[in-house]
Amino acid sequence: MLIIKRVKELQNYIQKQRAKNKKIGFVPTMGALHYGHLALLEEARSEQDIVICSIFVNPAQFNEKKDLQAYPRSIEDDIYQLEAVGNDVLFLPDEKEIYPNEAVKEVDFDFENLNDSMEGAYRPGHLQGVVKVLHRFLDIIAPDAMYMGQKDYQQYLISKKLAHDFHPSTAVKMVETVREDSGLAMSSRNRRLSDEGKQIANKLNATLRTFRDQYGQKTIEELKQGLKQNLATDPNIDLEYLEVADASNLKFLEGRNYIRPAVVCIAAKVEGVRLIDNLIIS
Ligand code: AMP
Repeated sequence: MLIIKRVKELQNYIQKQRAKNKKIGFVPTMGALHYGHLALLEEARSEQDIVICSIFVNPAQFNEKKDLQAYPRSIEDDIYQLEAVGNDVLFLPDEKEIYPNEAVKEVDFDFENLNDSMEGAYRPGHLQGVVKVLHRFLDIIAPDAMYMGQKDYQQYLISKKLAHDFHPSTAVKMVETVREDSGLAMSSRNRRLSDEGKQIANKLNATLRTFRDQYGQKTIEELKQGLKQNLATDPNIDLEYLEVADASNLKFLEGRNYIRPAVVCIAAKVEGVRLIDNLIIS
């Protein structure tokens, strides 16, 4: 596997591949890789000639400094895993490569309503930071396709719109959430949970599944209220939101407006670790 740290060097490499008519897939990550990331790489591998994975812990998308500092980093193990799956290129830039001086302009991106709720509301500036880094990556790499996980569904919808508005030659593809046997969505942050914390965190996915099973049987408010009350009985779960929205535009659903596909989303802290998950109700 090639490990490239410089933008220039990556662009030279890409130019050579383009001259050979190679199709390029791109998987942006923040490292601490797990099977969820590997699923994105596998999907990219099945559709493209060359796969570029980036590892960059993007300071711009952390609204809390503490969270940035606590974010797990395991570059040696990441490289080992990437080698093991036969990844072609690891792009491993430092901050100066991605944000050189003032050269990286804020992109004037119209989020429409996609940044108003959930992650946008609970992590102010987070999705702007995601857009900033993805815009830069797409400028540098201009891949044929970028692969994003369903686990960050709001981020996926935003990245799809970003590509549509500014990088129309890049398709954005969603890959289903990879879970532990228990149902817990895999996440780099799970490393910070104790075994007991993982058990507790399973309740988040269980809540989503109950929501999906009962969708259409009660009003959306009744459904949400019942499930929130149930979560509130566990003092170890600090719920931020439980919402259901039209999966195409993230507009919240109310009453008996049982649109399909819908997406039911949850965010909560367990042992001080912020976890998110969602299910599509098709
Ligand atoms: P991150 O390193 O957390 O920024 O994630 C990089 C990419 O991997 C994003 O597109 C995530 O949505 C995706 N991802 C993270 N966890 C999972 C998972 N459990 N299943 C599928 N994709 C995931």
